[in-house]
Amino acid sequence: MGPPQADLRATAPSIIPTEPIGSIPRPADLIERIAIADSEDPDLVLLYEAAIRDTIERFEATGSPIVTDGEQRKYHNFATYCVHGLPNTAPDGFRIPFSDGHTRRMVRLTGGPFRYRRYADSYLDVALRYAHVPLKQAVISPSCLSLMYPSERIPDYSREQFIEDLLSEHETEIRRCLNKGAHKDQVDFTEGRLAVKIDPSGHLLNSFIDLNNLALSRFSPEERTRIGVHTCPGSDRDSTHRADVDYAELLPSLFELKAGSFYIALAGERDRRHALKIIHKYRKPDQRIFVGVIAPIDPRIETPEEVRDRVLEASEYIPIEQLGTTDDCGFSPFSDDTSTSRDTAFAKIRARVLGTKLAEKLIGGDS
Ligand SMILES: [Zn+2]
Repeated sequence: MGPPQADLRATAPSIIPTEPIGSIPRPADLIERIAIADSEDPDLVLLYEAAIRDTIERFEATGSPIVTDGEQRKYHNFATYCVHGLPNTAPDGFRIPFSDGHTRRMVRLTGGPFRYRRYADSYLDVALRYAHVPLKQAVISPSCLSLMYPSERIPDYSREQFIEDLLSEHETEIRRCLNKGAHKDQVDFTEGRLAVKIDPSGHLLNSFIDLNNLALSRFSPEERTRIGVHTCPGSDRDSTHRADVDYAELLPSLFELKAGSFYIALAGERDRRHALKIIHKYRKPDQRIFVGVIAPIDPRIETPEEVRDRVLEASEYIPIEQLGTTDDCGFSPFSDDTSTSRDTAFAKIRARVLGTKLAEKLIGGDS
């Protein structure tokens, strides 16, 4: 088994893949300008462009083999970027509560038909001009956007028709990203844990899983190897919306999703081994599990050695051929979040990349 194995290792780019989630804090000048201007003010184009270029340069400088555009242009956040500015919406939609007491709100649909205003591949168009390594693109889940339909029926536009339109728009967005060469398309499913909190019976979570699987079923098994799902307790202003929900309530259902990769917040968990045991039990053989080894809401910068130890810990529960590393969440899912600096975000990403390499050396047997 000696030489062939060595050859394989020499050609394989990495044993343990590492990927970011998506968002990076926006530069201060961009945040200031957006606060006083309309998010689509043409004067902002140059500021957006500069932010994206700088983000990708700094991302690549961390050594990260996969980068993103830092979601610099996702306004106002990871969830509603695609529907922001739609005329058939009102601001008083579903309310997302965070542990520190602040809330964020979804928009509410006021009439049909439901269409996206923009698809995430438009961000890739810009990012591809600057990137030298593969780009990943995150999109919002159908289950999150399904919260836009109000509890009372919209006249002449049934919930069933809405869901059909929603699935179609979501599919279009993913196909456009994959066709443009996104390394991975990550579906942000941050509301999974929230669903368990709102409805402990599990019905809401299961309806979310079913809806997202309807979407995933539209893709071939080969396409699904490039589609992932991200779950976390939510992250905004160094606060979470549902860290108190046990992973035991979420993960068994999560792995029913027909996706190839899973990006699971773990670094900030109170009991990582508890979560890892559940992952060990419920993961499917064709799923790659990217465990969170960096906690974006913790201001302290992890050391590469800490990251290495977290990877080794995870490798006790997840076979190496199914293991990857990631950050627990984006560093700034909401565009006006200034709780983390860009310097801190990139220092943490660098620790993730270095720490994953350290673990890889130990596990791969290099000496
Ligand atoms: Zn997240």
